[in-house]
Amino acid sequence: MEKDKDMEMILKLQAIDYELGELDRSKDYLPDMINNLESEMQETSSALESFEKEVTEQTLLHKKLDIELAALNQELAKLQKQMQVIKTNKEYDALTNEIVNRKLKISSTEEEILKILTNIDDLKEKIKEYKEKLEEVNKNNTTQLAYLRKELNSIEDKIKIKEGERKNLTVRIDKRLLSTYERVRKGRGDQVVVTIKKRACTGCYKGIPPQKIQEIRKGEQIFTCDNCGRILIWTEDSS
Ligand SMILES: [Zn+2]
Repeated sequence: MEKDKDMEMILKLQAIDYELGELDRSKDYLPDMINNLESEMQETSSALESFEKEVTEQTLLHKKLDIELAALNQELAKLQKQMQVIKTNKEYDALTNEIVNRKLKISSTEEEILKILTNIDDLKEKIKEYKEKLEEVNKNNTTQLAYLRKELNSIEDKIKIKEGERKNLTVRIDKRLLSTYERVRKGRGDQVVVTIKKRACTGCYKGIPPQKIQEIRKGEQIFTCDNCGRILIWTEDSS
């Protein structure tokens, strides 16, 4: 067999198998990526909606308390008017009590209103921030989603093309070498052809006898690692 040509083809085969593996893996991770991008858009939009809902509720509460405050002030004015036409001490005490009562209610209502207005201000800030965030997230994610969905839809076609390339290649490779390759791939995965570094197989790190290294360097024959069975090659980076 023509060793160099076979080795070239087996390396090409390994590259195709790696790409096929990547395509297979992307069938899992592309849907995950798509889900994550969609969730991010959904979550940002939900957060914005909940802030908007809260601001509506707080605004309604503010209006209700404003009306209550106006009523309390009216009652207070009425009581203070009655104070001018008071006749007995008993009436005076009762009225004073009522006035103090209203004043307390007025001050607590005013405090509540102030809190609500601060809340509304904070919420409006958040709404502004989240509107900008949503716009940006939507813009970025929509572009990415279009790309990822296109990728996902084209996986099967790409796999078919690669499988075709694989078939065309395997019919040209030496049968014995191919069967070694297929056997190692089944057991070891993507890395079938490995280089020699520091006088060891880079697949399993087992040392290789000097005699065998000499033979591999000569390049007249294809050798496999005694330990892991991977096909060994000598490259420019080997040592
Ligand atoms: Zn090995």
